[in-house]
Amino acid sequence: MPAAERPVDEPERLAALRALALLDTPPEDRFDRVTRLAVGLFDVPIALVSLVDSDRQWLKSCIGFPTKETERSISFCSHAVLQPDVLVVEDATADPRFADNPAVTGEPNVRFYAGAPLHSNGHRVGTLCVIDRRSREFTTTDRGLLRDLAAIVEREFLSNELSRTTQELLTSQSHLAEILSAAGDGIIGLDPDGCVSFANPAACALLQADVEDLVGVQLHDAAHRLADGSSFPWSECPTHRTLRDGEPGRVTNETFVRADGTSFPVEYTATAVHERDRIAGAVLVFQDISSRREVDSLKDEFVSIVSHELRTPLTSIRGSLGLLASGALGPVDPRGQRMIEIAVESTDRLVRLVNDILDLERLRSGHSVFALTPVQLSSLMLTARRTVEPAAEAAGVDVVVTPVEFQMDLDQDRILQVLTNLLGNAIKFSSSGDRVELTGTVRADEVILVVSDHGRGIPTSALHRIFEPFEQVDASDSRAKGGTGLGLAISQGIVQRHGGRIWAESTWGHGARFSVALPITAPPVEST
Ligand code: ADP
Repeated sequence: MPAAERPVDEPERLAALRALALLDTPPEDRFDRVTRLAVGLFDVPIALVSLVDSDRQWLKSCIGFPTKETERSISFCSHAVLQPDVLVVEDATADPRFADNPAVTGEPNVRFYAGAPLHSNGHRVGTLCVIDRRSREFTTTDRGLLRDLAAIVEREFLSNELSRTTQELLTSQSHLAEILSAAGDGIIGLDPDGCVSFANPAACALLQADVEDLVGVQLHDAAHRLADGSSFPWSECPTHRTLRDGEPGRVTNETFVRADGTSFPVEYTATAVHERDRIAGAVLVFQDISSRREVDSLKDEFVSIVSHELRTPLTSIRGSLGLLASGALGPVDPRGQRMIEIAVESTDRLVRLVNDILDLERLRSGHSVFALTPVQLSSLMLTARRTVEPAAEAAGVDVVVTPVEFQMDLDQDRILQVLTNLLGNAIKFSSSGDRVELTGTVRADEVILVVSDHGRGIPTSALHRIFEPFEQVDASDSRAKGGTGLGLAISQGIVQRHGGRIWAESTWGHGARFSVALPITAPPVEST
């Protein structure tokens, strides 16, 4: 009985075969479904699925053939595995390769054999074969059907797709773990209740805690405090909103407490993790911003000193230019007059900038004094409109105020400054013929004033950023629209000094809406 030759790709073929992890496993029902189908389809007593090692055959399914005999059919399947296509032996007794095969000369007296190679990962690793005790013909259609059945076995059971996908998943998981370990920022995973489910090494280092001590801890209660170190309810934490509504949360001016009770200023973003349609948790990326704070305060100090130094000479330059422009020092020719006007405009802009810088610096350092007095909101709102009226007229914008009849304690001039700044911006970024609105709502514990416009709007990515000094949607905005880039930072400072909040909402291209929420600290006095 001539032995079958070894396939040329034998080492790779054996690797593909072993990668299936099917060799030492017992015969399986799932393969039987196919062999049963083959028995019915070809009207044969025997059908096998066999995987062919270099010197052994592994039966994954065996219908109508005693297992011990199957070992003898090895030479059939070893030959079949060498064939690129179906191997058909119509009469084994007449074929020198198989005539003396014990399965031919004895039980079960194989006469007919048709085996289609089974491929995995491009290599022939086994056969699906049908066997009969009598010789018979195998038509082209029969070959096609056997090939189709073999293709089903390949796709359903021998595809390496699953192990490849698992391997890729493991690889990407290990990459992810490397990235998380290498990240300088603290990264924490939270479950829907805000409890830590994961913490990277940077997070553990920043919080000076072991990962085992962090996992399961409700992060907000354990470590999150306001800038002044006081705790506040979880329901008011931006991360709580992220977990509830899926809205990204951002904190720039709060603190995290370390395991030893000390704290550091933190900046973090919270992003919801979605699983199908529900929010399954959030990822918090945070940094200790102590050193950035130090640099910022040095920078602020520098800017403040320069601004103070600039103020006195600027005032005298402005005064002298004013005198020249008024003609009090004698006539100036028209070209000279134009030059003086440009100098006056630029000096005014510089004065505004210096004043705004100093204002912001005083607000941030807590040096500006706030005088809270009972203020009638309706008259404050109307005063704000009167203040911006010239700008609105020049821009052809209609400012519509719906006054709120409510009295509360505020620093009148400072809140007026906020409203005129918001209205001024709304006018600046509207087109002629547009309408700008100022409305208000009185809630149980706060009043919300809203300035809305129908101008170009603000992209979502800039909605938080524009409250930082000199931050604009477009780098040319301040220059083009005559602003200083500090209005919103100052407004935020003023509102926060009142214990309130200010935020912007917008859809790029569809106008902007700025809201100011001011707490009603003193008992509300309804006006009649
Ligand atoms: P500026 O003096 O530049 O107006 P602000 O701090 O008041 O400074 O505003 C910062 C930036 O925010 C503006 O330059 C502009 O890019 C954007 N912005 C503010 N209000 C609006 C608005 N109503 N519509 C569109 N963009 C706005």
